[in-house]
Amino acid sequence: PAAIQLDSLTKRYGDTVALDDVTLDIAPGERTVLLGLSGSGKSTLLRHLNGLEQPDSGSVSVLGAPVATARGRELRQLRSRVGFIFQQFELVGPRTALENVLTGALSELRGPRLGLLAYPKALRVRAAELLAEVGLEERAFQRADTLSGGQQQRVAIARALMQQPEILLADEPVASLDPESSQQIMALIRELAERRGLAVVCSLHQVELALGWGSRVVGLRAGKVVLDAPAHSLDESA
Ligand code: ADP
Ligand code: ADP
Repeated sequence: PAAIQLDSLTKRYGDTVALDDVTLDIAPGERTVLLGLSGSGKSTLLRHLNGLEQPDSGSVSVLGAPVATARGRELRQLRSRVGFIFQQFELVGPRTALENVLTGALSELRGPRLGLLAYPKALRVRAAELLAEVGLEERAFQRADTLSGGQQQRVAIARALMQQPEILLADEPVASLDPESSQQIMALIRELAERRGLAVVCSLHQVELALGWGSRVVGLRAGKVVLDAPAHSLDESA
């Protein structure tokens, strides 16, 4: 079955049509770039995939389950299978890197501050392993707001992987980073996703980053899909 299935998804905000009749199937393990200018609907699309937005019409199904009607426990369960990475990282600044990663086990970004020992040992071990995997083991006990942007995004990526999701969503994950960190973070996302066989959907506005990274490129303009092609087919003509 598809990892993600959108069928005639339409979403309006007042007079703005943010998504206009979007139909899209994404297979497990596929690495998809959502490419479009600011305001083209990328965030809105991603936010429908973990129930942060409700469609006006059409349907959204993730890992075989309809998202729009999911509530409470069902929605938390769905979100635990879908990791999300944000442009502004969305870490809790005064907490350590390790605490922020552990928060990923709670299905909420800003849950109560729990002492490290409130987490079962297996979770503490997994969080430490994930921090090592993103190259930050020496920073585990450093406050998140003292880390560089690239390091903060690494923490956020580790947090998104805490519940061992099957899908990873990234909303402009490098838009706040310098070019070198951007390359590093995109490479890291790709490597972690490949290692785990995750489907990734990543929104970007830079064509150069998109073509080298995705296996598939979906272009959005004013809420419509205006391009859907294998990345390699675009690289030649670029
Ligand atoms: P992005 O381009 O990454 O979506 P924005 O600055 O456009 O960033 O949006 C930031 C947040 O504000 C998002 O959560 C988005 O849903 C919301 N947003 C965007 N446009 C509007 C708007 N016109 N009115 C209210 N909220 C908006
Ligand atoms: P992108 O992520 O590609 O920058 P968005 O999905 O954030 O685009 O926005 C698509 C359109 O919907 C834009 O015109 C934006 O201003 C509008 N929009 C997004 N979120 C909101 C919101 N919460 N309220 C009003 N308008 C919004």
